[in-house]
Amino acid sequence: MAGVTVAGKTRVSSDSLVAEVLAGRTRAVARLITRAEADEAECRPALAEIYRHTGRAHVVGITGVPGSGKSTLVRALAQRVRRDGRTVAVVAIDPSSPFSGGALLGDRIRMSEIAGDPGVFIRSMATRGALGGLARATLDAVDLLDAAGFDLVIIETVGVGQDEVDVVQAAYTTVVVSAPGLGDDIQAIKAGILEIAHIHVVSKCDRADANKTITDLKNMLILGLPRDAAGAWMPSVIATSAETGEGIDDLMAAIDGHRSFLDESGGFEAQRRHIAEKRTLKIAEDIIRRRFRARHDAALDALLDQVGAREMDPHAAATRLLATLNEGSEHDQGA
Ligand code: GDP
Repeated sequence: MAGVTVAGKTRVSSDSLVAEVLAGRTRAVARLITRAEADEAECRPALAEIYRHTGRAHVVGITGVPGSGKSTLVRALAQRVRRDGRTVAVVAIDPSSPFSGGALLGDRIRMSEIAGDPGVFIRSMATRGALGGLARATLDAVDLLDAAGFDLVIIETVGVGQDEVDVVQAAYTTVVVSAPGLGDDIQAIKAGILEIAHIHVVSKCDRADANKTITDLKNMLILGLPRDAAGAWMPSVIATSAETGEGIDDLMAAIDGHRSFLDESGGFEAQRRHIAEKRTLKIAEDIIRRRFRARHDAALDALLDQVGAREMDPHAAATRLLATLNEGSEHDQGA
């Protein structure tokens, strides 16, 4: 296997890991995710090659506020997926719960039930990094898992912060989790993520106060319904309990149902195109911001001073800025 020297150490080159990823070897997947997370320029061509082999997995985003029961639910869902003989990978970017949640529900959803199963892959992403780096590395990880042949790839994240909302919207099906007992009745409203859901879950429905959360959520959705809803996808509300197992089958059916809806309505291609657009634009924006920071020099300061002093308008300055930022862009390979 081809070796490459990085930081004085010789190791397997990213290019030579591509064939292993395509053969479904998770060790190679994990290594490339680590390199993508570290934003190593050496792995970029390999990831570009991987991208050409993606598009087969169904990508599901699961979001909600911390404590809403996401990681517990994701585990229950992973087990459910396995029962059909399908494989599932989870990329978790919840900074508040590094895949440690649900410990109190030891019996039903024990980690050990899915740990060691080669049909399940779980990876927590590091949350620190360069601007936009987390979103980019997470989507690189999703690509790697898709190319490795996982049937379902779940992105689990807290619905706070634009980066995380962007990431979860890169999924074909988005699930927003609300839970009883967390204070604000429908937390998704406050977090501004109610409208991104294809499927709503009210978790912990074994709790007595869950009915109120379900009713409130349904009322919110009725109020927010678009007038011309014919042919449009209607978000459903599913009550689940990881403790009793209730609703997990319904959630699985809703996820598969949304995928069928996309396929049959022609919405899938449109969504793929939309995701491609958002993802490409996001990378371009991050490159611009990074170059802007890297090149914050005297000439730029003078430009901004002029705008501040009303000697130049912001549009003219922005045009000038873009022209400057493009100079020497070949040094930005790692972006
Ligand atoms: P996350 O932060 O959204 O990932 O939430 P967790 O999955 O870590 O769950 C938060 C808390 O809710 C934990 O104490 C769980 O044990 C509890 N929890 C999760 N799912 C359920 C459920 O179905 N029923 C009950 N009663 N508690 C749950």
